[in-house]
Amino acid sequence: MAMYCNQCEQTAKNIACTVRGVCGKDEDASSLMDFLVFGLKGIAAYAYHARLLGKTDPEVNAFIEEALFKTLTNVDFSHEDLWDTLMRAGMINLKTMQMLDAANTEHYGLPAPTKVRTGTIKGPGILVTGHDLLDLEELLKQTEGTGINIYTHGEMLPANAYPELKKYKHLIGNYGSAWQKQKKEFDEFGGPILVTTNCVLIPPASYKDRLYTTSVARVPGVKHIEDRKDFSQIIEHAKQIGDLPERQGPDMWTGAHHKAVLSLAPQIIEAVKAGKINHFFLVGGCDGAAPGRDYFTQIAEKIPKDAIIMTLACGKYRFNDKDYGDIDGIPRFLDIGQCNDAYSAIVLAVELAKAFDVEVNELPLSIVLSWFEQKALAIALTLLALGIKDVYIGPTLPAFVTPNNWKYIQDNFGWKPTGDPDEDLKEMLGK
Ligand code: SF4
Repeated sequence: MAMYCNQCEQTAKNIACTVRGVCGKDEDASSLMDFLVFGLKGIAAYAYHARLLGKTDPEVNAFIEEALFKTLTNVDFSHEDLWDTLMRAGMINLKTMQMLDAANTEHYGLPAPTKVRTGTIKGPGILVTGHDLLDLEELLKQTEGTGINIYTHGEMLPANAYPELKKYKHLIGNYGSAWQKQKKEFDEFGGPILVTTNCVLIPPASYKDRLYTTSVARVPGVKHIEDRKDFSQIIEHAKQIGDLPERQGPDMWTGAHHKAVLSLAPQIIEAVKAGKINHFFLVGGCDGAAPGRDYFTQIAEKIPKDAIIMTLACGKYRFNDKDYGDIDGIPRFLDIGQCNDAYSAIVLAVELAKAFDVEVNELPLSIVLSWFEQKALAIALTLLALGIKDVYIGPTLPAFVTPNNWKYIQDNFGWKPTGDPDEDLKEMLGK
């Protein structure tokens, strides 16, 4: 069936006009509409996880409906109106992340800083990747007492810090790192792998038969488990494969939920006043395979010893296997959790600002954001909506952001593209 662009009143030359809902003649409006659609996908992901744990919010649902409908019916293309909708999307995302944080902590308890073993131990095992804690919990329940060990992968690492998940003795620890290394890591793991959400690669033949999807995740040619209450198929597969080898990697710390970090607030304030802590960094976001992402490793390694490094999401695997030590007992490296836990980072920034009686933008805090997919864009919208300035974003800008729209962000928020790590760090420390 032919598709028509509702502006040109001609057959759409490419699908972009109809998918974006905006005429390709105004590239800047198209770009803002893309930002909105990608951001909505991120908000929807957070709302979905929260709903699985019993939390919904009519205001969030209403905004998603309205904003999606707008992409179909807004033929005004006023940039001002589109920016206004984007800022509303950012605030709605904040609300959604807050709802997800409440859902996770009410269901699984408050995460506590936890040292996580990496590698595998002798015995059959299943690896769980993605972001969905409920899928992990169901698998833990169904494998309890069976002799099968469970390992987290990638964005599931922070699950090891929740009391109601780490109480399962067969949750052994973490295996592997960020999504782009799956082909090597899943191949070497040896046992079956459960994929719960996005960021899964099309598998090669070497482990395709060991890969299972569930929930919203699907991969062509891969077995799908429809009902998370029945993981018997993958459990049987783990038993058939049998023992995995013993492998030991470096320990990793996670579980720096904002409430755990805020319990250290008096010590942090004292250390700042004594000149022992001079800067805070938030270095995190999505990882990817494109060249230039070692920028984030270099930044983390070059951060001076009188600074605290906060991180989140899978970008951290580029630097979370190192020992950063402490400042007067305060850990220098704080893994806040998944990209889904970005709310904690925002609360920490707001609470630190309150403690020092300044605005967030006046804090000696530098944010270095690696972006890759829709949730990172939803978080970027929240930071913009909160008026957070001087964020470094990279290693490349999203392709859909036009030069004019990027100029708007630079002029109004002072955001910068990542460049030379040494130069950027010097600039950040001069703040
Ligand atoms: S942090 Fe981003 S890139 Fe990494 S697994 Fe999560 S959604 Fe995917």
